[in-house]
Amino acid sequence: MTIIPDSIKNRLIVLEDIAKERIRQEELHPEDLDLLMQLVVLNEEVGELSQALQAHYKLPGSKRSDKSDLYEEAIHVSASAARFAEKVLNNEN
Ligand SMILES: [Mg+2]
Repeated sequence: MTIIPDSIKNRLIVLEDIAKERIRQEELHPEDLDLLMQLVVLNEEVGELSQALQAHYKLPGSKRSDKSDLYEEAIHVSASAARFAEKVLNNEN
């Protein structure tokens, strides 16, 4: 029996959550955005992750208090970057 370290288990959980978020993205936003618009979406998600991090550290002016946002927004950023990479691999622009 192979024992899987917790760090690898967490990596698999993250990758699975990114894959689930990619499916959710396609369902919510099936429109085919070009790379420039996908970069806009990715930057928006990075902004939301930044806000969640500000709240995590309770920095002045932070707007959010839900700590789970930090993980959720990191998944959004990762899924948006994955969508971008998929489009590049598909030779689309
Ligand atoms: Mg988000």
